[in-house]
Amino acid sequence: MFGLSTHTLENHRRRIILIMMPVGALACLLGRELSHQLNLFDLVFEPLLAALLGLLTLLMGFRWVSLRFVEAGLVCIVALYQLLGLAYFSVKGDLFQVGLSATAMWFPVLYALAYLVMSPGGAAAFSLGYFILALLALPLGWAFGHRFNGSVVNSVVQFYLVNLVYLALIGFYARYQREHDRLKRLAHSDPLTGLANRRRAEELIALELIRSTRYGQPFSVLVLDLDHFKQVNDRYGHAVGDQVLREVGFRLSKALRESDVLARWGGEEFLVFAPNTDLQQAQALAERLSQALSSKALWNDLTVSASIGVATAQPGDTVEELVSRADRAMYEAKAQGRNRIALQSVGG
Ligand code: GH3
Ligand code: MG
Ligand code: MG
Repeated sequence: MFGLSTHTLENHRRRIILIMMPVGALACLLGRELSHQLNLFDLVFEPLLAALLGLLTLLMGFRWVSLRFVEAGLVCIVALYQLLGLAYFSVKGDLFQVGLSATAMWFPVLYALAYLVMSPGGAAAFSLGYFILALLALPLGWAFGHRFNGSVVNSVVQFYLVNLVYLALIGFYARYQREHDRLKRLAHSDPLTGLANRRRAEELIALELIRSTRYGQPFSVLVLDLDHFKQVNDRYGHAVGDQVLREVGFRLSKALRESDVLARWGGEEFLVFAPNTDLQQAQALAERLSQALSSKALWNDLTVSASIGVATAQPGDTVEELVSRADRAMYEAKAQGRNRIALQSVGG
């Protein structure tokens, strides 16, 4: 329904990850160059990590694999690298004698990454598990007989505490974001039918007008007004009228393509905006919608018809101009006897 914004969000995620991965790979290579003494773990895993990050960057840059695949791969690789590193330094005793390695500074990146790529609940569980596994590095080292050198305790304690703070902060931010998203969805949807409301439709049409001008693609709008709907209320009551409106919304949305958006424009009036659709294609769409309404009774043996006005975007159109052309065409369809489709009149 709100396909456009999901698409934009995905592009943002793609960009963030496309920056993150080469920077991570560079950090691995720099780590190797700048270390005085390379330990076995860095010797093996840093080039491996750099290579994997480079490979994922290529795969994603050329769109050979899905964003989902890259995201899942990235989270697993970073988590494994960090946890294995911590376990290695703990068993070897370095964690207790010389403190954390420089790469441990990257440890908290995973919390942000998890919230970027997973559902908030999944990310919270994953981050908590990651933190707990990191904590287990301490008893692991103790089991191997290592004990803290006094000068190191502070930095290790601070490491775990700061991770705990990151975990809590990002978790809090995700809850806040979820609430924000819920309110935004409410503000954008019609409570009766769950469709996009007029405000959302106007926003989307404005965006689509810009896009269609930029890319030179046609773009059409359909206004549907149910015929004699007042009689439905008068005969069956308002509650049945509401139920019929919900069913109309459901029927129409099932007859649309993924990229089309159906909105409740007001009362018993609906609006469809169809990207990449010229006037002729929009007329075919209107016929399909009309058919979807009349094909089966909406409630008991009750059917309703609609008068549909169709308009296509012209250069320099505003939202109001485009919709009012479709609106005038809809009134034309009413005047011609209802249950029919009318196209915008030529030249206006
Ligand atoms: P036509 O469009 O064919 O000219 O006739 P109509 O009877 O549909 O037109 P009119 O604009 O006179 O009436 C629209 C009716 O739609 C009036 C109102 O009771 C009903 N309506 C609008 N919003 C709702 C709603 O949310 N629920 C219900 N049940 N009815 C609604
Ligand atoms: Mg009306
Ligand atoms: Mg009506």
